[in-house]
Order: sequence, then structure tokens, then C-alpha cells
Amino acid sequence: MSTLLISGGTVYTADAQESVHARGAVLVVDDRIVAVGPAAEVEQAVAALTPGQRGELRTLDASRMMVLPGLVNDHWHEMFAMGFPLRGALRPASDREDQVAFLGGGGNMHEISATFDRFDGLIAGLTPDEAQAIAEYSMWTQLRGGVTTLGDMGSLNRPASMVAAARRLGLRFSASTWASDAVCPADGTEFRRTRDADTILSGVEELIGQVAGDTTGRLRCRPSIAYVTNMTDELATGMAELIARHDLPFATHVGALRHEADVLRAYYGTTGLRRLAELGLVDERLTAAHAAFLDDDEQKLMLAGQAHISHSPAKYGPSGESAVTETGVVPALRRAGLDVSLSTDGSSLPNAGMAEAMRAAWQMYNELSADQTEVLPTDALAMATRLGAKGLRWDDQVGSLEPGKQADLVLIPTHDYRYLLNSRPLESFLWLGGSADVDTVIVGGRTLISGGKGVEADENGLRERYLDALRGFTTRVLRIPDEVVGRVLGQVSR
Ligand SMILES: [Zn+2]
Repeated sequence: MSTLLISGGTVYTADAQESVHARGAVLVVDDRIVAVGPAAEVEQAVAALTPGQRGELRTLDASRMMVLPGLVNDHWHEMFAMGFPLRGALRPASDREDQVAFLGGGGNMHEISATFDRFDGLIAGLTPDEAQAIAEYSMWTQLRGGVTTLGDMGSLNRPASMVAAARRLGLRFSASTWASDAVCPADGTEFRRTRDADTILSGVEELIGQVAGDTTGRLRCRPSIAYVTNMTDELATGMAELIARHDLPFATHVGALRHEADVLRAYYGTTGLRRLAELGLVDERLTAAHAAFLDDDEQKLMLAGQAHISHSPAKYGPSGESAVTETGVVPALRRAGLDVSLSTDGSSLPNAGMAEAMRAAWQMYNELSADQTEVLPTDALAMATRLGAKGLRWDDQVGSLEPGKQADLVLIPTHDYRYLLNSRPLESFLWLGGSADVDTVIVGGRTLISGGKGVEADENGLRERYLDALRGFTTRVLRIPDEVVGRVLGQVSR
């Protein structure tokens, strides 16, 4: 048994009223929150503890901190195995010769489709040890930035190794598989089937079975399809049947890029969201990632189905995407009442975290609407916590600080020049803070990070194992000469 009182900080609950307690407290017994509110009220809950619980009581002084719910990143991909070739270490140090990359300029749909279809072969090339070492380091970078619940939307890694890595690190993980069974080749006008849909679906079933055996309460499953360009009707229909049978949420990328609709019409006869709707996948189970390039009728389908949107505004500029301002569709659907959560998406390097996604939404949505109340800082927080949990169908347990919920918390120091004279520390944080400011991360009452360092996990050890695994995979599977890899790693301070 353990009892923890976090006392004195500004507590942002992200509950349905977005309650904030200027001098608040949170009382945690074992893995759950039992009281949250003004410090004086929570003191009464402390007084009501059993003598045994009071004897175990530890107090964490948060008077110079803000206390947030653990961040929920509902759209992420583990892609750190591609740290060398893909926007990674093999680039020249100077960025002056950079060209528009494949997601930029409206999207090179044929190249995107072909790239996504190659993941399976690369995943098969990872040894289980490499896969786990790479996943552990990649997930560590999320945990370090305050993410306590991570939602995979298909990764360049082995699902079983990612589940094992999540168990080892102690964060919550919604597992998935990489699912692509078709490509849109540049030389044709018909999609080409590349894989058997039933084989992919049986891999999903296997993962569901594995997660069902979990006893930690920190694992769930949300099947996903990589992209509507890479999806046959058979895969989509089979997935709709599978998620209904297991009562699971589902995710895919759709409406991501300007050129998507034309290619979908040419290769599949209709646009991505219409396909998903016709195949039975647009309802409250769906998390649509990006969802910016939707026409009027597709927006109506999203509203009628009460589907969920996951948006990654901090990522779009650096990748050449334009899923906030080019259409303004996502802010408009949010105004119309759809749930929009924030996420990081994935990269082969640590990219913008959830703090940076909150800042981007706060700045960009408000600028787009000339209204600083469109996304208040507490709205951005809800989008990074409660709403993401809802999309993952995990809001019964996580996503806000409320009695009965799991004790997933993030503490951030608020006592330097950035916070001076501001009664709203979350606002100062969105102006001048970031993922690296996270001091303490608690998952299910267990402190995983304290003072910015792993309590049990050792970042140096995780990094060493990651770099060793990356070297093996990069030379053996990607066939990048060991001399080249060794030269880069020799420059890494270890
Ligand atoms: Zn994505």
C-alpha cells in the first residue's frame, strides 16, 4: 500500500469543467486518485484516511510546480530504426540544400504509398532484441516529455517487442500493427494488391490475444490501417468486422494531404473518407489522423458518425504538410462539436512532443480564427489529455485528475523568470516551456521520472542499447556500410 499527497501546486484537472486549483492538491492511494481540489479540501480527505494509510503517507511538495494529468499521445509511430537514412544522421550538417520532401508540396502520393508498403519487410529484418532496444529508447523519449499513455498507429517495429518495452518502462500503451495491403503505383490507374488481408488481420487478432492476457492494466489495443492509399476493401471490411467483434476503437490516416483525394478517386473510385464510410469504419470508434482535406460531404460524414480527429499541429510545418491552415477544416469541425485531440505523429528522431503540440494548437487555431479564446490553454491541455484518452477509449481510467481515475500525473517546475507575475502558469508554459521541462512523471501511482531522470530506467543505458541495436539493423538490413555507421556513432558522445 502507498499513499501520496501532492500538495501546494497549481493543479490543472482537465476534467469536463477544465477546473484549475491555484493552491491545489492531489491525494493518491495505491494506483488511484482519491481526492483532488483546493489543498484545504484535500487535507480533509487525508484526515479521513485509515491509520494504516496515514502511516504510509508521503508528501510531495509541489508548491513551485504545476500539476497536470499525464499526457495522452493518441497518434504515434515507432520509427527510430530509421535513424540513419530517414531524415536522420546521414544528412549533411547544413540544411541549405534541402528540397521539398515526400509529405510536402501537397504530398507525393505514389512515393508515400510505396514507402508505407515497405515497412513489413523492414520489420521482419529486426531481431527481437534489436526491436525491443529500439522501442524502449523511442518510448523513453515520449515518457520523458510527460506522455503517460501512448497510442501506436502502426510502427516500423514488432508489436510484441513494443508491448514488452512498454511493460518494462511502465507507461500505458495502446498497441497496434503495421497494416498495408496495397499500393498506388506511379505508372498505373489501379491499385496493386501487395499482401493478403487475412494474414494482416490474423496478426491483429494475435496482438489482441496477447494484450488480453495483460494483468498490469497498462495495455490496450487499438487496431489501425496505415493509410487509405494502402488499403483494399477486403482489409477495411475485415477490420470493421474485427473491431466490432472485439469492441475496440480503430485509427487510420485520412484527409492528410492535398493530393490524396485525386489519387484515391483515380485508384479506388472514390475519396478516402467516403471509402471508410462505405466500408463501415466512420463512427465513434474511428480516430481519423489529420482529417484536414475533407470536402463538405465528408465533413458531414465525420459529424454524423461522431468520429474522432487526432491532429499534430507541431509536426506539419517541419514535414511540409499543411493540415491546419490550408483548409481550416479541423478547427471548423472542432467548433461544430467533434472531439479533436492533439498528438505528435512519428519520426525517426525525437520530434515535437505533446507540450509543443499544445503550443502549436494554441497559437495556430487562434491565429486562424482571430480569436484568442478559440483554444484556451486549458482547451489545449484537454486536447492533449482527456480527449486523446476518449479517442483511445481509455477515458474510463485516464485523461483527467478526478477521484477514481488512475494516478497518472506530470509535474512541471514554475518558479523561474518565465512564470514571474503570471497567475496562469500553463499559459507561461505554452509561451516558453517545452517537453524537456517535465520534472516528474507518475503512472498509476508509481513515480517513473523524478527531477527529469528515470527512477528505474537509466537513459544512458537505454541509449547505449539503442545505438548498438541500430548499428546491427542499419548495416545488416539497410546495408549501410559499417564504416559509415561507425563514423557517425564515433561522433556520438556516449
Ligand atoms: Zn501518423
